[in-house]
Amino acid sequence: MEIKITKNPNPSPKTPADKLGFGKVFTDHMFIMEYDHDNGWHDARIVPFGNLSVHPASTVFHYGAEIFEGLKAYRTPSGAIQLFRPLENIRRMNNSAERMCLPQLDEEFALKALETLVSLEKDWVPSEPNTSLYLRPFMFGNDAFLGVHTVNNCTFLIIASPVGSYYKEGLNPVSIMIETEDVRAVRGGTGYAKCGGNYGASFRAGKKAEEKGYSQVLWLDGVERKYIEEVGAMNVMFKVGDEIVTPALTGSILPGITRKSCIELLRDRGYKVSERLFSVDELREACASGALKEAWGCGTAAVVSPIGHLVIGDEIFTINNNEIGAVTQELYDTLTGIQWGRLEDKYGWIYPVK
Ligand SMILES: *Cc1c(COP(=O)(O)O)cnc(C)c1O
Repeated sequence: MEIKITKNPNPSPKTPADKLGFGKVFTDHMFIMEYDHDNGWHDARIVPFGNLSVHPASTVFHYGAEIFEGLKAYRTPSGAIQLFRPLENIRRMNNSAERMCLPQLDEEFALKALETLVSLEKDWVPSEPNTSLYLRPFMFGNDAFLGVHTVNNCTFLIIASPVGSYYKEGLNPVSIMIETEDVRAVRGGTGYAKCGGNYGASFRAGKKAEEKGYSQVLWLDGVERKYIEEVGAMNVMFKVGDEIVTPALTGSILPGITRKSCIELLRDRGYKVSERLFSVDELREACASGALKEAWGCGTAAVVSPIGHLVIGDEIFTINNNEIGAVTQELYDTLTGIQWGRLEDKYGWIYPVK
């Protein structure tokens, strides 16, 4: 399938890197294509960035048929542009689509769409330290029909947003609230899918955490409310003694690409990494005995985020004296080094954009 390109006749001026923030500024173009059962995906095009016209009965507004992805284009010291494991995002989107009865993407074509858009917008990839072009592919059910039914019509887009440095004041540990009332996902639900509804349902706990001065929520499993699952938009890892522990992918946890990359890097460097259940009780014991050495979150936006405090009710667990630990720092330096092209990529994770 060809991608028809219509250039934006009124390109926007570029925002200075220190004013970018996250997800507020958008580039001049977007990728869009439509799907219906009879014709499959069709009308792939890149058009000037702008509002969509969507039928008020569209499935997405009423029944939440929506999935998304998030990845970044990075500018290397030599000025080249590269993506980090983009096929992983496309494959995960297909897994999310399967869960939501949305259509599959052709992997190669989706990669071509990403690459064509990034290549057209290459002047929008900022070059200041720790900045990038955030890419947001998303797909939604778009039938003009209020019946509760799987969708026949679907729309897929990719929009792009230059983003500033996540850590303006350096890599400082965050305080996180363990949520004991609301749950994010249950096994059999949509926790492993990157779908919009998972986020909509998480806002209430997020708001409560924010009001109490915490930066994020740590979710527990939805059945026993005992086992640690993940943080807002990040997976979570702990160093307990010499073991690195991260919650196993039981179906209610989003399989992060940063998580996967951390596990592969750590194992390659000889660390013992266990994907298993990890309860709040075990956390409490490890904290009391001094075995809990480090904790961090990992996801595309922050890469690696050290955790200094975990709070549940009146109980506060302080980790590594609220300082960034050696493994956390090593992971951050290695991953960001590979992503921004400062370190050699011996894993084949980098996808150069022509
Ligand atoms: C996207 C996401 C992550 C992190 O995934 P990455 O692929 O590493 O960016 C973790 N948890 C949730 C709930 C997410 O939506």
